[in-house]
Amino acid sequence: MSLPDKKGYFGEFGGQYVPETLMAVLEELEKVFRGARKDKSFQRELTYYLCEYAGRPTSLYYAKRLSEHLKTLKVYLKREDLLHTGAHKINNTLAQVLLAKRMKKTRIIAETGAGQHGVATATAAALMGLHCEVYMGTEDISRQALNVQRMKLLGAKVNSVTSGSRTLKDAMNEAIRDWVTNVHNTFYIIGSVAGPHPYPFMVREFQAIIGREARRQFLRKETCLPDYLVACVGGGSNAMGLFHAFFNDKRTKMIGVEAAGLGLASTRHAATLLKGEIGVLHGSKSNLLETKDGQIKVAHSIAAGLDYPGVGPEHAYYQKIGRARYVAVTDQEAMSGLKLLAQTEGIIPALETAHAISFLKRLASQATRNSSVVVCLSGRGDKDMGTIHESH
Ligand SMILES: *Cc1c(COP(=O)(O)O)cnc(C)c1O
Repeated sequence: MSLPDKKGYFGEFGGQYVPETLMAVLEELEKVFRGARKDKSFQRELTYYLCEYAGRPTSLYYAKRLSEHLKTLKVYLKREDLLHTGAHKINNTLAQVLLAKRMKKTRIIAETGAGQHGVATATAAALMGLHCEVYMGTEDISRQALNVQRMKLLGAKVNSVTSGSRTLKDAMNEAIRDWVTNVHNTFYIIGSVAGPHPYPFMVREFQAIIGREARRQFLRKETCLPDYLVACVGGGSNAMGLFHAFFNDKRTKMIGVEAAGLGLASTRHAATLLKGEIGVLHGSKSNLLETKDGQIKVAHSIAAGLDYPGVGPEHAYYQKIGRARYVAVTDQEAMSGLKLLAQTEGIIPALETAHAISFLKRLASQATRNSSVVVCLSGRGDKDMGTIHESH
């Protein structure tokens, strides 16, 4: 059975919880997306930009010194950090911008928390010559000044959001409000496998190239499939991108690493799958962090990209059916993971990715000798140098 179902559900998760006026738009979007998937000229154009502009295929790199350090694990890194703009997000924004063009939309909107999705969107919009506006909470605007500057340089307009906690979830509400008003000419780019159907499905399909390449590359190098896949989970797009092609490979175990922030026992974390409850956020039903009276909590992680109180519905489903296991890593553990990769391999990963790296130490102590693992190296760490410096 291929999921999501017709209504956009992965088991009990997903769906379309949006104002009535958007239902027809989502339906049209799904139709255009399904058409584009089958259209050779769309696929050719997307492949062209992914290869010539963004830098695909990315390498599957055998991390020899890291593997020796961990002893039991043979570690391969899927190098999404080598893509243009430094992370996997460009896979999705390039594809959605091409869809926008196909739908004859002239205006792109997005919301962003850390600014990474905003930058990836502004980049793709500039490339296609489309007008771009990005919603961002004022709290995030001051925390992420460098990314705000990047977006502006790329020609995007950054709209500051002053409502609520002035962070990502408030920016999401504003973006949806804008979309409702301007659907005739506006395309809304969502940055992870979240949001109302068809977004979780669409973004998964656009990121699934990570796992398709990794599976092929691993088979070529090792003539078997990996024992484990490991990726960090914010909204869940790099993890789902890696996992999806391996869904039917039952012997390959999947592990998603959430942010435990200051600890799972504290209130300051972003471990939505481990600590959340089922509810509706951002137009779909999934796990989320909320208070007893149903208010969305402010998530916390040292990694701005993991700092999201929701998670894509397909991950909630994978957890429910036991296809993937989810774990959490604290801010402090992530910092030590970052240093480990920097000093064994000469690669400074993004703080998000550092969560996945840090978990390898735990996995190595449980794994039998000669186990193999593919880690999604979702992004590079240059953007985090300020944070890394402070926490020294
Ligand atoms: C945004 C981001 C993430 C988290 O987003 P997902 O949708 O969970 O992949 C992880 N790593 C990097 C480098 C990011 O920029």
